[in-house]
Amino acid sequence: MNPPPQAASDPDLLDAALEGARAVPYWLDGATPEPLPPPDGDLVVDLAVVGGGLTGLWAALLAAEAEPDRSVAVLEGARLAWAASGRNGGFCSSSLTHGLANGLARWPEEMPTLLRMGEENLDAIEDTVRRHGIDCGFTRAGELTVAVTPWQMADLVEQNHAAADLGARDELLDAVQLRALLASPTYLGGLRSVTGTALVDPARLTWGLADAARGLGVAVHEGTRVTGLADDDRRVRLDTTAGRVRARRVVLATSAFPSPLRRARPFVVPVWDHVLVTEPLTEQQRAGLGWAGGEGVSDAGNQFHYYRLTGDGRILWGGYDALYYFGSDLSARRVRRAATERMLAGHLLETFPQLSGIRFSHAWAGAIDTCTRFSAFWLSALGGKAVAVQGFTGLGVGASRFGAQVALDLLDGRSTARTELAMVRRPPTPFPPEPLRWAAIQATRRAIAAADRNGGRRGLWLRTLDRLGLGYDS
Ligand SMILES: Cc1cc2nc3c(=O)[nH]c(=O)nc-3n(C[C@H](O)[C@H](O)[C@H](O)COP(=O)(O)OP(=O)(O)OC[C@H]3O[C@@H](n4cnc5c(N)ncnc54)[C@H](O)[C@@H]3O)c2cc1C
Repeated sequence: MNPPPQAASDPDLLDAALEGARAVPYWLDGATPEPLPPPDGDLVVDLAVVGGGLTGLWAALLAAEAEPDRSVAVLEGARLAWAASGRNGGFCSSSLTHGLANGLARWPEEMPTLLRMGEENLDAIEDTVRRHGIDCGFTRAGELTVAVTPWQMADLVEQNHAAADLGARDELLDAVQLRALLASPTYLGGLRSVTGTALVDPARLTWGLADAARGLGVAVHEGTRVTGLADDDRRVRLDTTAGRVRARRVVLATSAFPSPLRRARPFVVPVWDHVLVTEPLTEQQRAGLGWAGGEGVSDAGNQFHYYRLTGDGRILWGGYDALYYFGSDLSARRVRRAATERMLAGHLLETFPQLSGIRFSHAWAGAIDTCTRFSAFWLSALGGKAVAVQGFTGLGVGASRFGAQVALDLLDGRSTARTELAMVRRPPTPFPPEPLRWAAIQATRRAIAAADRNGGRRGLWLRTLDRLGLGYDS
């Protein structure tokens, strides 16, 4: 491979490319909906949903669609879509298990069912978007998983065999075929999945779901943080910053934030994931890339990038540096980190040297609700009157709908094919408390980076975690 171009490694050039990048997520940098006020006094509802991201809004919409007479209120502590749901890459995947390999490692017998349910889930998202006229740029663009080292290519070949055994129609591409789709000198080959991924504007999807739910009578309140949760005879009492809410049933969809259900807290750590967006590509820059299919792309390392085009022809480029800060730090200062942004900008230019001179318009980070098994879990509490659903670990744009549906099944006491899944019945292993948590996560991050440097070979620490079914990812 040729050495990386100077622009990819010169810190001054990278800083110049990033200078002036706005610290606001690209998806939120424009007209945002009018704020929805907190409740005017105490509320009594059939269903309270805590959290106004995609998970909470899917729960509200699905509940309202299934039973129009049920009174539903969404309680959002800040603004709809301000957190992960408005800060993500917009890859809306059919995977419910954070990818095939993770699902096969944990629930091999259930994978055919989980794959089918995932495809049905993505179809149902598309159907909802069409039925409610949600203008979120939903496109079935498909996905390219690219190998930039020989060991990644070997992994993709193996993954393709496993996928084919399960009936998937992914296509293995060699370097020439792949580069004809998207021109990068770093590509050695890849896997093309045509059906499993749609791309969306995630903030507009979130707002669209809220509009659809409100159209069916759901009350959506912003600026209403839930500060306490208690059993109240046949109801649950929710103390909020805007009065008291009593609900027959409660969905907790609070993602990486400390759950009002204290028992749920050890299962999730907030992992900061950084994203850059470039200025719109010129016609010449676009022509130099190809990318006619506009697929979402990710590379196949343990530390991986994900990237895609936006509707107005920019590149969104994120991932790689999954950061955990001591004490599960969620403070706003974590939204910018010069070293990570410089590194991501350099990686983009290494991948696409033909874009030398490009500038970045946006740079931000968001907190991911990482759990030790990288996919959603559900916890029932208060005699089955409350269910927490979280832990999507960076692949929740699509899976959030499934997660919400399962939470409603559990609250209704329904036994369904979904609630019978081992994935649903068993929670993940919790993280240890601090300071052990921080030490274990840093050791795991170092081990993952070392495996990527050493031809994918997993050292003793990672192999031990693998055996225990534990991991760390974004
Ligand atoms: C940088 C980044 C990139 C990502 N990229 C992708 C991707 O490309 N594809 C993908 O599938 N997934 C991706 N994800 C993950 C994805 O964004 C989420 O899994 C998905 O949006 C579901 O989010 P959520 O609704 O569970 O959480 P959030 O969107 O974080 O919503 C949780 C909400 O709960 C509210 N809340 C918390 N506590 C309380 C309380 N006590 N009272 C009231 N409200 C409360 C918060 O204010 C917040 O609005 C990414 C995430 C990040 C951060």
